[in-house]
Amino acid sequence: MQVYGLVGNPVGHSLSPPMHEAAYEHTGLDARYVTFEPEPSAIEAAVDGADALGIAGLNVTIPFKQDVLDLVDPDPLAARIGAVNTIDFEDGDPKGYNTDAAGVTRAFERHDISLDGANAVVVGAGGAGRAAAFALADAGAAVHIANRTAETAGELADVVPGATGGGLDTLDRIQDASVLVNATSVGMEAPDETPVPATHLHGDLAVLDAVYAPLETRLLREAADAGAVTIDGAWMLLLQGVEAFELWTGLDAPIEEMNTTLRTRLERH
Ligand code: NAP
Repeated sequence: MQVYGLVGNPVGHSLSPPMHEAAYEHTGLDARYVTFEPEPSAIEAAVDGADALGIAGLNVTIPFKQDVLDLVDPDPLAARIGAVNTIDFEDGDPKGYNTDAAGVTRAFERHDISLDGANAVVVGAGGAGRAAAFALADAGAAVHIANRTAETAGELADVVPGATGGGLDTLDRIQDASVLVNATSVGMEAPDETPVPATHLHGDLAVLDAVYAPLETRLLREAADAGAVTIDGAWMLLLQGVEAFELWTGLDAPIEEMNTTLRTRLERH
């Protein structure tokens, strides 16, 4: 039996175990997915221990995504983003990947949204914002990053190819964009809050909200009212997990089964 898992603190409400176990069940893999919650000071021992115990792969979440970068051999994209959310322990030294980036691009692909040559605005410059900005730029989009702390957006724009950055006063750039990503936590558990004034939204936009609780955020509601294509945060969550499953197993992930399991659990939340 192969063991995969999630390391973070806290991990109690994670939806990754049922999502990955749905994939094992459907593909007939003899595998389990378990959660680990080490003390923050014990992350290095946890990664070494997982390797020594023969754990096949780990997802990594808050607060460890940056720490793990120094504990594994990161692939070039994870190194540029500065965060690892997936470790593969098979075949020698542990390798680190960032599948949040693929979660963003695959979410737009699934909705037939072209990124190559698009003008994209990413709101937020934390972990999700960094992954989204690199992912969109690598897919050929011209990226503008708008963040509450303008300095952080500027620092990120300096390292993302072709990107620009500014404060939330630059959100009017959305008017010339066809792609918008909310990578802030605004709207999470607070359905009446949005990071983007509705006046900036329009019908030529595709809007991905990284927030998945609630599934229908105020931003997505107002984007739909403006005629935009809306993509909820469960797509990003699903497709980062799909990418990790495929990296670990070399198999095509059973996306529909994983999606059904994830959405059933999210709706119960
Ligand atoms: P993070 O690193 O803490 O970054 C938070 C970002 O939100 C920062 O840019 C911060 O701006 C901004 N922000 C926070 N409060 C704000 C407010 N009141 N007004 C405007 N901006 C505000 O967090 P993260 O890991 O990037 O996660 C961000 C969100 O994405 C969370 O809701 C998380 O659940 C979600 N997420 C979803 C997925 C998925 O698979 N769907 C994956 C990763 C993350 P400052 O720089 O000014 O503080």
